Amino acid sequence: MILVLKAQATEEDINAIAQKIEDLGFKPHISRGEYKTIIGVIGKNGVSLPGSASSELANHPQVDMVIPIMEPYKLASREVAVDNTIIQLGDLKIGEGYFTVMAGPCAVESREQLLETAKGIKQHGASILRGGAFKPRTSPYDFSGLGVEGLQLLREASQVTGLPIVTELLRERDIDQIEKYADIIQIGARNIQNFSLLRLVGKSSKPILLKRGMSTTIKELLMSAEYILAGGNSQVILCERGIRTFETATRSTLDISAVPVLKEKTHLPVIVDPSHAAGKRSLIPSLARAALAAGADGILIEVHYQPKTALCDAIQQLDIQDFGKLMEDLRSLAAAMGKTIN
Ligand code: PEP
Ligand code: MN
Repeated sequence: MILVLKAQATEEDINAIAQKIEDLGFKPHISRGEYKTIIGVIGKNGVSLPGSASSELANHPQVDMVIPIMEPYKLASREVAVDNTIIQLGDLKIGEGYFTVMAGPCAVESREQLLETAKGIKQHGASILRGGAFKPRTSPYDFSGLGVEGLQLLREASQVTGLPIVTELLRERDIDQIEKYADIIQIGARNIQNFSLLRLVGKSSKPILLKRGMSTTIKELLMSAEYILAGGNSQVILCERGIRTFETATRSTLDISAVPVLKEKTHLPVIVDPSHAAGKRSLIPSLARAALAAGADGILIEVHYQPKTALCDAIQQLDIQDFGKLMEDLRSLAAAMGKTIN
């Protein structure tokens, strides 16, 4: 349930109510808005607050209203947050009002490939560098990434360009290495329901980029986000990356409606990956513009300095020049929408 506090509730009142909730064996989730504070009362293992305790909280002089949380995802739900979540990485803000472009190769392949690509995307205004060091591949014979060497190259590229890094954590055992090198930890589509991995990153202090699975409903995506939030990590970015449908003209079908649906249901930032959705270079700019127009908070896009030579996803990666053109389009569209590309 949610306690909506009276506007005049002081910091002392808020702390006292939060302490009371903890004493009852529940977790208080405090969300401070400009005018009012709300506190989510979250139970463990499906336990709900006994009636007597709930009326005790409801009768507190600084509690204005008690509202039950209807959704199974409690912390991810818009109901428990007054404001949208904004994730701060240094000066960079990800979330409402901003449009963040995360770009880079599918996989880190070599020093030259990564540095040239990173410099190119930086020059055209991307603000985060993506690149996989541990790659999930459908075929066991395909290039599966450079591992720790790839992470070190990402760090070097970050030092050269000043761009923060997002990279995928594929296995639980790599968490320490990924945390050491990444600024944002990506959980890929294939691990969306790897619940022990989700619990693990719920304990991380790094923001998590959670990609929707190709066969995951929006509710399931939010339940996966809930695992991370319930672990104590409130910095989750959701990513729509296309789902499996009967359509074969594209690699996946970009569910553009997921953007406004998620915006209604959750306070978390929502970004779109047009590259893995379309799977085809020529379609990427249209889908990236659609993401911005639909209200996404950013895109995750594959760019390679020489896409034809790429060791994975060669047909969907943009070259630097096409990426530059797309950035120009996005800038004019963002300006028309009153958004800032950061
Ligand atoms: C990726 O972004 O590197 C990736 C593998 O995408 P997905 O998990 O969405 O397939
Ligand atoms: Mn890829």
